[in-house]
Amino acid sequence: MTATALSLQPRPIDPSVDHEIQAIVSGDLVGETCNTDLAAGPWDFDSRPGYGPGASMGDVIPTGAPRQGELPAEYRAASDEELAARIRAAKATLGDRVVILGHFYQREEVVEHADYLGDSFQLAGFAKQHPAAEAIVFCGVHFMAETADLLSQPEQAVILPNLAAGCSMADMADIDQVEECWEQLSELYGDMEAVDADGRVPVVPVTYMNSSAAIKGFVGRHGGIVCTSSNARTVLEWAFARGRRVLFFPDQHLGRNTAKAMGVPLAQMPMWNPRKPLGGSSAAELQEATVILWHGFCSVHRRFTVAQIDKARAEHPGVRVIVHPECPMEVVDAADEAGSTDYIRKAIAAATEPTTFAVGTEINLVQRLAAEHPEHEIFCLDPVVCPCSTMYRIHPGYLAWVLEELVAGRVVNRITVPADVADPARVALERMLAARP
Ligand code: SF4
Repeated sequence: MTATALSLQPRPIDPSVDHEIQAIVSGDLVGETCNTDLAAGPWDFDSRPGYGPGASMGDVIPTGAPRQGELPAEYRAASDEELAARIRAAKATLGDRVVILGHFYQREEVVEHADYLGDSFQLAGFAKQHPAAEAIVFCGVHFMAETADLLSQPEQAVILPNLAAGCSMADMADIDQVEECWEQLSELYGDMEAVDADGRVPVVPVTYMNSSAAIKGFVGRHGGIVCTSSNARTVLEWAFARGRRVLFFPDQHLGRNTAKAMGVPLAQMPMWNPRKPLGGSSAAELQEATVILWHGFCSVHRRFTVAQIDKARAEHPGVRVIVHPECPMEVVDAADEAGSTDYIRKAIAAATEPTTFAVGTEINLVQRLAAEHPEHEIFCLDPVVCPCSTMYRIHPGYLAWVLEELVAGRVVNRITVPADVADPARVALERMLAARP
């Protein structure tokens, strides 16, 4: 199979990745998708094991991951136009009673109905700003809906249109595995609350926002903190002021890239693989550790390679390569810049001269940016169209269903974080909000 760079194909700038996938699969457009099943309705995959087609399709889905019941046939059979009309009608009926949040990585056909578009933390902030809305429909993935539930009012219902929209990275740090890791580290380091002469405990746990509420709660209970890809450095500084080491999860790449930029040697960043005794590292390596990296990754950002950057530079002299810090270290090192989705959007918006950008992040965002900025040439570093498997589960059919259920007075797919988890998870989030460079 020959991969053809989308950037090389003459194509109108259409923000819809769905259209592009359909056109590639039907042969109307030259290009490649990572799985032709992407052209099918996501309901075909809700009850099957695995994350479904897309970047995470090769990852192992944990037992007990939420499953979505069957979407009623009328929504599966409806055309795109009918679904869009039904969503608009339901939204108009509900008015201020509902707020629809759309993540940057959502398909365009969903984003067009969102009241707010943003990254996970920005969207949680928008949820907080609407305390009077009865329902917050979160078009994103499971951990994001949990965070919105943590920050919204208790009586507000946070709804995830498809319960199978998890996150393969967040699922790589299971609470039982993390508790087990902590126990093993306690045996190695001794009393985890004992401070040294500098007032620092042996380990401070830091979790990326892309983790379950249970993990955020764990971090809150153990003196730790949450970070985003925008504030990871500030948060690590906060943690190093309080601990001799950091246990960082679930994304090894964000942890490694951030700590490396702060001057932490790679030799002081052992990996913790939860399937191996002592995480697969030696006791000596863990004693010397400054950052212990959990063996997790994002399958979307792991697809980017140095070879893709070399190709972009060869074919587009002067190209600006911007990648997300969830990409592997070699890719971040080879890029011109690395930053969060918010950073990438602002960097492109701030470019005053027509520029060619090769972007290493999720295809829905890249394609939308290309449509929003016709003054620039913007393309995804990965020539293969391969969206996030779980973000892709939110289809307009599910959005129409949850909204029409609300109109009928029924709340479906509500995400609720139990109080014993929510309280310490909020503590960890509040520490992040209070952390200053
Ligand atoms: S892009 Fe990666 S981190 Fe984000 S939801 Fe998808 S799998 Fe999770």
